[in-house]
Amino acid sequence: MTPIYDYHMHTPLCGHAIGQPKEYAETAIKLGLEEIGFSDHAPLVSHEDPRITMSMKQLPTYYKMIEEVREKYKKQLRIKVAIEADFIPGLEAKTKKILDDYPYDYVIGSVHFIKNWGFDDPDTRETWDEIDINRVYHDYYDLLRQSAQSKLFNIMGHVDLVKKFGHRATEDMTTEITKTAKVFKDSGMAVEINTSGLRKPIKEMYPALSNLKIYCKTGVPLTFGSDAHDPNDVGRDYKAAVELAKQAGYKEYVMFKQRKIEKIIKL
Ligand code: ZN
Ligand code: FE
Ligand code: FE
Ligand code: ZN
Repeated sequence: MTPIYDYHMHTPLCGHAIGQPKEYAETAIKLGLEEIGFSDHAPLVSHEDPRITMSMKQLPTYYKMIEEVREKYKKQLRIKVAIEADFIPGLEAKTKKILDDYPYDYVIGSVHFIKNWGFDDPDTRETWDEIDINRVYHDYYDLLRQSAQSKLFNIMGHVDLVKKFGHRATEDMTTEITKTAKVFKDSGMAVEINTSGLRKPIKEMYPALSNLKIYCKTGVPLTFGSDAHDPNDVGRDYKAAVELAKQAGYKEYVMFKQRKIEKIIKL
């Protein structure tokens, strides 16, 4: 059995995705998914960048767009409205305000920035050549823990995104991940298996098996998402994702509604 939903997909409003929401829905129906959730990039609270996220002005458009597609496909597919929001330390109140504006089914919290550096942005990839990789990893996990503690989010997105371009820490990160998993558990965060890493230079899902084992052992709930920025990527690599979940020890995964776990599903 593959997961019955895809909880991580984007829309062209973020400036780097293609295809209309109805095309994402059509792929999901073709694959036999029961449910999808759109989780496009929420406006950045630190600065505007139309390459990376929608703007504040586009938020109402986003919500309306998903409501429309939900209505259109209501007989074939359950469609949830969610959002992926950046964690920017110091701007938690501003972030909360944006997230409280609409009744999302869940919020994916993501760390894409370390001290203003978009470390997964191909346009600033050269910074990796002049930076201490171990330091980046430590900073990244620290930000993940702060994100969870902020209680702004429900699911932490792609929780080892730092590996995206293939940079590996030379130090053992087990302690960092164990600490992070504990904070997730204590803050009621879920983690996602995000298959998009397979389509990136690292060619590995987020998170890696060894990390996912730690989240599982700590009791952190699991969700699944493709992080599709293209309708063809909806539900992509779901067989491998289930394999990974099972190998990590997961026996179940969760569904969200109105920002709470709605249902636990056997794997
Ligand atoms: Zn994106
Ligand atoms: Fe992301
Ligand atoms: Fe995403
Ligand atoms: Zn993402």
